[in-house]
Amino acid sequence: ITGPDRRWSWIEVDLSAIRNNVAVAKRRLTPGCRLMAVVKANGYGHGAVAVARTALSAGAAQIAVATVNEGVELREAGIEAPILVLSEPPATAAPVLLAYNLMPSVYTAEFAIAYAEEADAHGLRAPFHLAVNTGMNRIGVRFDEAVDFLRQISFHRALVQEGTFTHFATADCAETLDFNMQFRRFKETIAAIRAMGINPGLVHCANSAALLRYPETHMDMARLGISMYGFHPCPETRGRFDLRPAMSVHARITAINMPPMSEGVSYGMNYRSPGSVKICAIPIGYADGYARALSGRASVVYDGHLCRQVGNICMDQCMFEVDLRSYGTHRRLDPQVGDEVLLVGAQGGAAVSIEDIADMLGTIPHEVCCALSARMPKVYL
Ligand code: PLP
Repeated sequence: ITGPDRRWSWIEVDLSAIRNNVAVAKRRLTPGCRLMAVVKANGYGHGAVAVARTALSAGAAQIAVATVNEGVELREAGIEAPILVLSEPPATAAPVLLAYNLMPSVYTAEFAIAYAEEADAHGLRAPFHLAVNTGMNRIGVRFDEAVDFLRQISFHRALVQEGTFTHFATADCAETLDFNMQFRRFKETIAAIRAMGINPGLVHCANSAALLRYPETHMDMARLGISMYGFHPCPETRGRFDLRPAMSVHARITAINMPPMSEGVSYGMNYRSPGSVKICAIPIGYADGYARALSGRASVVYDGHLCRQVGNICMDQCMFEVDLRSYGTHRRLDPQVGDEVLLVGAQGGAAVSIEDIADMLGTIPHEVCCALSARMPKVYL
């Protein structure tokens, strides 16, 4: 049992929002372009298995993960679609890749040879996607060395190049100079590979931002990550695409205190009660991904109103304040143990979004979502 019946804090994931967002992306794709659903980091915190199943049933053709173990989890859950591991694992992972039919990204000869030899030893083929570094300078064979690299590994018959990809560093930025350079280098690399008589397999480069903004980057496949979860990759896509956030974060009040004026709350007591407030505890803390840096800055939604989170956020719990005098309405709030609170979500005109929290922390929604720990029970709607 992993539901909120064991803990009064949980994440709700609306799978119809994921379906909607996949459909939005598919409508945008150029004809014939496949969709790859990126479910690394436990589906950006939404649960990889449920998101992968939903995306596949909504028309995604392939799945991408970041690690071998993430791929194994999907296979063990019965997912049969092609799965790409978006980086090159250590050579010692070759037997697991083959046993679970997971495709690695390849960019070193050492790995490629070890992988091919392991496949040969078992009479298997060794499918892979070539990762090309076109300027992000993270992983991949440098674009102008890709042809030589392929020549170098071409003697290993077990290797089957099922795809070739690169990743953009600035598809979400207003400035397009670097983006254009990367895209040009990628197209030139693909042309050079073809000119050598090598089939590059499925050619792909678009992430969410490129998928939504630049249809010319769609090629054979596009990799949809953050926008599948309902977030805009950049301000330019807002209002143009009907993306719906799938995730909301919930808790129930576990304890209520009414400290007298000037008494402190939580570690360090850097919040002091002004009196006439109820301090409500909820069982979610920084170990759940509710960052301690939000202490005293975040808000929660209680009974259709925004209430201030107060005191330092603890490892497993935190507190918020309900002012008993007024909330600008005729009705006073009267919190009770067991009442539901939204840490992310909307109710009665009050809302807190993942983007609000990301802004407070000076980061991006990706980090806020995937920081929510697996310890948080998940409920799928
Ligand atoms: N492709 C690669 C190689 C990635 O690393 C990522 C995520 O960072 C994605 C695709 C998906 O990107 P996004 O979440 O911006 O759609």
